[in-house]
Amino acid sequence: MIHHHQFDAIIVGAGGAGLMAALHASKAANVAVISKLYPTRSHTGTAQGGIAAPLANMEEDNPEWYMYDTVKGGDYLVDQDAAEVLAHESIDAVVELEHMGLPFDRTPEGRIEQRRFGGHTADFGKRAVMRSCKSADRTGHMILQTLYQACIKQNVQFFDEFFVVDLVVEGGMCLGAVAIEINTGDVHVFHAKATLLASGGFGRMFKVTSNAHSLTGEPVAAVYRRNLPLEDLEFFQFHPTGIYKMGVLLSEAARGEGGVFVNGKGERFMERYAPNMKDLASRDVCSRAIYLEIKDGRGINGKDYVYLDIRPETINGYKSGPGGKTVTAEELEKKLPDIIEMMRIYLGVEPMKEGVPIQPTAHYAMGGIPTDLNCQVLADATGAVVPGLYAAGECACVSVHGANRLGTNSLVDLVVFGRRGGRAMAEFVKSADFKPMPSAPEAPVVAELERIRTQAGQEKAGILRSEMQEIMMDNVGVFRTGPMIQIALNKVRELKARFAHVAIDDKGKRFNTDLLEAYELGAMLDLAEATALSALNRTESRGAHSRDDHPKRDDVNWLKHTFIRYTGAPTVAPTSAETEITYKPVTITKFQPKERTY
Ligand SMILES: Cc1cc2nc3c(=O)[nH]c(=O)nc-3n(C[C@H](O)[C@H](O)[C@H](O)COP(=O)(O)OP(=O)(O)OC[C@H]3O[C@@H](n4cnc5c(N)ncnc54)[C@H](O)[C@@H]3O)c2cc1C
Repeated sequence: MIHHHQFDAIIVGAGGAGLMAALHASKAANVAVISKLYPTRSHTGTAQGGIAAPLANMEEDNPEWYMYDTVKGGDYLVDQDAAEVLAHESIDAVVELEHMGLPFDRTPEGRIEQRRFGGHTADFGKRAVMRSCKSADRTGHMILQTLYQACIKQNVQFFDEFFVVDLVVEGGMCLGAVAIEINTGDVHVFHAKATLLASGGFGRMFKVTSNAHSLTGEPVAAVYRRNLPLEDLEFFQFHPTGIYKMGVLLSEAARGEGGVFVNGKGERFMERYAPNMKDLASRDVCSRAIYLEIKDGRGINGKDYVYLDIRPETINGYKSGPGGKTVTAEELEKKLPDIIEMMRIYLGVEPMKEGVPIQPTAHYAMGGIPTDLNCQVLADATGAVVPGLYAAGECACVSVHGANRLGTNSLVDLVVFGRRGGRAMAEFVKSADFKPMPSAPEAPVVAELERIRTQAGQEKAGILRSEMQEIMMDNVGVFRTGPMIQIALNKVRELKARFAHVAIDDKGKRFNTDLLEAYELGAMLDLAEATALSALNRTESRGAHSRDDHPKRDDVNWLKHTFIRYTGAPTVAPTSAETEITYKPVTITKFQPKERTY
């Protein structure tokens, strides 16, 4: 059965970015949010560490220092006009959340309390600064609950557990989206003047990841399959502290409160890699250091992990606590309740008495759908926009994170650019008309889903998915080389060919997660291929993209953004290998690229 809806603006995704956009768009437009999860289950709810803003509540700070850290953290691939917007608007955005009722931690004077985080410094890199605003280690949860309530108050209409499978793009404009109602299997066509994508990351293409199972990137793949470009996919962040073997995240907040890395010889090894910032160097630097320690046989007992040590005696011994102050077990339990519980439950370790086994985990997509400063999606590397299409949050690339995102900078990105996107849509729909929809825009995707649901075949989606995750983890991970990436690319292409013969067991319509998971796999295979191609093409090392065969950053040839585009016929199934790569210059305003040291 096919249902039709019409809204001024639709938003795909109910995480922090989608809800902030919905809230602001709804002030002047009728808005629907379509989400495959119930909104408060979105991944934003798992964010632990905090949200950056140079409020200077604890010590001197300002937006200029913050902008510098963001640009340097991103290894100078950051568009500096975007970083300037982020740094300046972060203050107001955090205050807006506060006024909505978000229960931030407080100083004794009643101001928002802040803590240190990797790569955030005072006075252009001189010392670590307390810039992360937080609600214990449940900041994302609080943001999501606060924004959801604000949207309900604003009468935003929610389509919960609706799975968006395709976009309606006609004559270079976006006219809406096609979704499957998970409960019934019914098809819903949404006709809109403006569509904003806020579908989050797609880390599930890797084996060890901090990302929720739902982060599979169909809306991003839909953009790609409609011949629109994706930007800088080769930059995928590996967070240094994933729980060993599980990838579940232990926030950098643990190091913000004084925790350190320790290798198999009992050494605090970050002193060798980042003499100034040590364990609070940026994530790419820490992940590579851990990898190298392990490679040189200095993992714990020679194995493939190191310890995160948050024992008060260690922190006090190294004077690594905030401001060099001593810490007690009680204070740590209060500031890091959830992650300490995770250490106990998932690993069975007692973090006040022993080290916690960790390894780098695939965490964050710096690249994604290219946008301008008002979240309008770019049609090409010259900056032309796609009328009616917007993107914000992790699925987008504006690009404030460049080659490597700093901790706490995603939550700010969501609220700053979600708000800008929402406002831009509200403005756009005032004067825009509903353009006529093509006839049966749902037909191609309905046919593709029917094919997967009914065909007989030898291949199982779960097996193909594991093979993809394994090869991406091993070959397009913390360190890569050209030959390694080529092997991954060949494998992903083989998996795409096998995907044509996928068969599923559940032949029904209601809650057919078998079918939707197969569709997710197809989307991830496209994103994995585009990621591998972008990584193979960039013959330098920058930020999270570390090529062992090209170990140096090369500003002469590579200070530019990758735009990868699928050039074959638009499709709703995995694409063919027809692609092109073009480049967009990096916007540099205040900070000339320098060698990055921490
Ligand atoms: C464990 C963890 C901890 C983190 N901690 C921090 C932190 O402390 N500070 C920080 O700044 N960043 C942190 N990050 C990163 C940050 O949380 C995310 O980048 C950010 O929350 C993404 O928000 P979003 O709004 O873009 O998307 P998400 O919150 O991921 O939401 C995506 C939404 O899209 C919907 N969706 C996806 N696909 C479809 C589809 N096909 N159809 C319909 N709907 C769809 C989902 O239902 C969901 O509502 C953390 C990330 C993780 C994984």
